[in-house]
Amino acid sequence: MEHIITPTANKLLASLPPNEFDHLVPKLEQVELAFGKKIFDRGERIGHVYFPISTVTTLLTVGPLDLTLEIGLVGPEGILGLPVIAGDKVAPYCAVAQANGTALRMSAEDFEIEYSNAETLQRIILRFSYVKMVQASLASACHRFHETEKRLVRWILMTSDRIATSEILVTRDFLTKILGERPETVDRAFASLENRNLIKYSRNRLVIPDRVALEAAACKCYKIIRDEDDNFMPAQETAERSTVPSSIYTLGGKKTPPIAVL
Ligand SMILES: [Zn+2]
Repeated sequence: MEHIITPTANKLLASLPPNEFDHLVPKLEQVELAFGKKIFDRGERIGHVYFPISTVTTLLTVGPLDLTLEIGLVGPEGILGLPVIAGDKVAPYCAVAQANGTALRMSAEDFEIEYSNAETLQRIILRFSYVKMVQASLASACHRFHETEKRLVRWILMTSDRIATSEILVTRDFLTKILGERPETVDRAFASLENRNLIKYSRNRLVIPDRVALEAAACKCYKIIRDEDDNFMPAQETAERSTVPSSIYTLGGKKTPPIAVL
């Protein structure tokens, strides 16, 4: 049975003023994303932009010999598929769903039209793009200068933050892609964290037993990136969120009651 959600569970959508929000929402459709689903690969056409609700996506840059490296995450705080606003519908990176969950999506063509006509949306997207650019720069420096274990902890915490749970799904194979490391290097980092009881891992499920202890094991990049996310919405946009009507939303042409999942 389809889980009905409200668009305001996405922080970026929730920050829009009522006139822009009401215009945009009817063009959204609800989709369920499965853990591990590749939403788009580098070089593929971006057919939709996504507003995650209860899922998170990892962005991977793809280098020579198809080597990959994590450059950021996008969850309910933002939007996925931003190259379309630059007039480029070809993905420059790979995006993979990191949790079973819900997102709202809109065709790239519809979003271009909405974006060109919505002043607040433009301002928020510009700010979001800036934050993601800063975070991608920090991630690059992190991968260059910090040890595998601390980078792994940073990614675990960032993923956990976005889906608001202490249990996340991940395969060791995917971790090698995120960290750009050999499997044996990732295994050593994993074993070190497990031996200190900072994580528990079984059948692709990773559990954080002690959040405070795990944060202490992360590199400083985690807190810097988290602070960037926390400062994403300026006070003005946050204040406007409360004026969004909460009676009935028309989603993809259907009337749906507003049931929050977050
Ligand atoms: Zn770091």
